[in-house]
Amino acid sequence: MIEDIFSIDLRVSEKLYIKRNRHLPENRKTDRRISIVSGIHGDELEGQMVCFLLNEFLNEHRDRIRGIIDIYPSINSIGIDSIVRNVPPTDVDLNRVFPGSPDGSLPERIAHAVVEAVKGSDIAIDIHSSNIFLVEIPQIRISEENAETLLPLAEKLNVDFIWVHGAVTVLKSTFAHTMNSLGTKTLVVEMGVGMRITQEYCYQLFDGIINLLVEEGFLDWEVKKPVRKPIISTGGTVHFLNAEAPGIFIQTARHGNWVKKGQQIGRVVSPLTGEVVHDVVSPANGFLFTLREYPVVYQGSLLARIYEEQNG
Ligand SMILES: [Zn+2]
Repeated sequence: MIEDIFSIDLRVSEKLYIKRNRHLPENRKTDRRISIVSGIHGDELEGQMVCFLLNEFLNEHRDRIRGIIDIYPSINSIGIDSIVRNVPPTDVDLNRVFPGSPDGSLPERIAHAVVEAVKGSDIAIDIHSSNIFLVEIPQIRISEENAETLLPLAEKLNVDFIWVHGAVTVLKSTFAHTMNSLGTKTLVVEMGVGMRITQEYCYQLFDGIINLLVEEGFLDWEVKKPVRKPIISTGGTVHFLNAEAPGIFIQTARHGNWVKKGQQIGRVVSPLTGEVVHDVVSPANGFLFTLREYPVVYQGSLLARIYEEQNG
C-alpha cells in the first residue's frame, strides 16, 4: 500500500512527495510496527537497492507478514532526484534538523512529517551510505547511552562491525537520536559509498533485515544461513588516519580486512613531482573498516579508520 506522508507544492507544476510502502499482515490484528528508512541524504543510494529487495520480497510473501512493515526509500526525495546530499534548494543537511517543525523551513517540515509518520514504531532502521569520499564496511553506529537496548537488535542485522559512540560525539539533531528519545529503537546503518550501489553489501543487509524481521516476529520465514557475528567496538580504540599533505590517495590495503601495525594502507602522491608525500601506515593491528575512495585529498582529509581491539 503506497501512501504519501508529506507533499508540498514547490513551484508551478512541481510537487514534492515523500512516500512509504506499508505492508500489513493478512488476517491478524497487531500494532507491532517496524520502519525502514533511507535516503535522508540524497547522494546515498545503497538503501535504494535494499528497499527494492525488501519490497519485492514482501510483495511475494504477503502471507508470511506478521506485523506492520513500513518502507520509506527516499526521505530526501528531491535530493535524490537532483543528485545532491542536502535538501535543495536550501542546501540544509536533513539529518541536522530533527525533530523539525510543522511550520518551519522546508527541511524542518520534512523532518517533522517523517517523525510523525515513524513515531510509534517499535523499531526503525535508518540506512545510510557514507558519502562520496569514504567507503564503509556494513556497520551499525549507536550511541553509548542506547547501547544496552540497541546492541541485541544490531547483532541480528548481519553487519561486520558495530561502532558504539561515546556520549560526547552524539548529534542530537539526527533522525536516530530523535526516534530513540521517542521510544522507537532506531539503528543507523552505514555501508558502501555515496552515489554508488555496492550489490554485495545490499544483499548482506537485506539478509540481515529479513533475519531481524523473523527474530522480532514481523515475518514467518525460515532463515537458512546464520547471520555474521559482528566486531563490537566497546573496549577497543578507533584510530583515525588523516592525510599529512595534499595529493592523490592511492589505496594499497584492502578495505574490510585486518591489517598489521606498520602495514601500508596507501600512499598520498604528487602527480606532478612523482614524490610520495605521505606513506600511510597502520598505527596498530586492527580492522580497516573505513577507507578513502575519492582520490583527491587535502591536508587533514580522512583516509582510513582502523579498529584496534583491546590488547590488540
Ligand atoms: Zn547519510
